[in-house]
Amino acid sequence: MTEDILINVTPFETRVALVEQGSVQELHIERSIQRGHVGNLYLGKVVRVLPGMQSAFVDIGLERAAFIHVADLRQNRTERSNGTAITPIEKLLFEGQALMVQVIKDPLGTKGARLSTQISIAGRMLVYLPYDPHVGISQKIESEEDRTSLRERVLSFMPEDENGGFIVRTQAEGATDEELRADQSYLRTIWNSIQAKAKSQATPSILYTDLTLAQRVLRDMVGPSTGMITVDSRSTTQELLDWAKTYTPSVLSRIKHYSGERPLFDTANVDEEIARALSRRVDLKSGGYLIIDQTEALTTVDVNTGGFVGGRNFDDTIFKTNLEAAVALARQLRLRNLGGIIILDFIDMDDAGHRSAVLAELNKALAKDRTRMTVSGFSQLGLVEMTRKRTRDSLAHQLCEPCPTCQARGNVRTPRTLCYEILREILRESRQFNPKEFRILASQAIVDLFLEEESQHLAMLGDFIGKPISLEVESQYSQEQYDIVLI
Ligand SMILES: [Zn+2]
Repeated sequence: MTEDILINVTPFETRVALVEQGSVQELHIERSIQRGHVGNLYLGKVVRVLPGMQSAFVDIGLERAAFIHVADLRQNRTERSNGTAITPIEKLLFEGQALMVQVIKDPLGTKGARLSTQISIAGRMLVYLPYDPHVGISQKIESEEDRTSLRERVLSFMPEDENGGFIVRTQAEGATDEELRADQSYLRTIWNSIQAKAKSQATPSILYTDLTLAQRVLRDMVGPSTGMITVDSRSTTQELLDWAKTYTPSVLSRIKHYSGERPLFDTANVDEEIARALSRRVDLKSGGYLIIDQTEALTTVDVNTGGFVGGRNFDDTIFKTNLEAAVALARQLRLRNLGGIIILDFIDMDDAGHRSAVLAELNKALAKDRTRMTVSGFSQLGLVEMTRKRTRDSLAHQLCEPCPTCQARGNVRTPRTLCYEILREILRESRQFNPKEFRILASQAIVDLFLEEESQHLAMLGDFIGKPISLEVESQYSQEQYDIVLI
């Protein structure tokens, strides 16, 4: 089965959808505002050396001069690890000097960017360290066997004249020789082009920027099952073609520009799918539905039949709903990019054969997902526990924030509950203070209730405390917000 890739480009955001047989399987979103300078390489010019602070200002072409501390100079690192005498910064840098630097911290407020000369370039599975001849393995790869094998393989693929080293990223877990080799040669190609630029360009100039989402798609997502890669921006299409020519020539023929009238994402109903992927409930064709709840600790998926199930086909209906749910929830996990512990609560099935068939269907559906997962069998309570590796943020984390009205509880106190709360509070305050009048500032719904159904209770309280109570609508207030003003 082939997967098509749709790339929607706007000045503020790039969105990528993986579509298989007309249905969206995976979404990636990158906002321009989130793209900083970290990781970018510049040919900078030293503008001032400050021996007292053992640091220097470097012009890299940004609004403010960037900053480098002696500890982030390559020579200093080497000296420290060798235990030899440390060379002060004024012996290493001089004003006007051209210097290849990498941004390690974005500029913030009045502070310029922070730089290092310890260069590193990230690939798909490896990070290349052109000046550091070591091979390191990510802590997150736990198996000692994997670590040893990865180290040996990466070392064996390195050419004789290699002066640099590699860090093996978590993504390399389970990588084939072919993939490791491809990543090494990709990183070397990039490094060669950076060096060539550094020789030919004036200061300050940019030598390398971290890949955009669209470029990462070509590097990381394209495989044998990829169909067409359709891009709705002419300039991005050209950029991708240029990039692919150098780094991934095999995908060149699959990149095409989309210039249709209809928005590209509408052609596969992607925006509708995004809206659906943000809601708790997912409807199934059979009439059943899923309820997906994401908390900090775990995600639960509850499978429900739609309405009344009865008669002779009871077991059969439940079995079919669970089968459909298995496929739908596998897709939702990927679409929403849910990670961590996931508890699946299928509808109870008495038949052991049905249970194993649902589990098989689930595993089959999950197999399309590139993310690492574990799936248990049915527990005694009839639950299936699974884990899915956390990678980037979940879709909901990326696009939403906790509801300020309900504090993310998912419900708000009813207007009547709030009316009674307000009445009690006025009573409490009337014992403590002695104002001329009380005024309730509240949302329209609360004020309406006080004017109509709860008007008697309000009047009774006013009589009881011997003070007038007035009402005022505060249209900016949410339902749960109110103020009691003493006048
Ligand atoms: Zn809410």
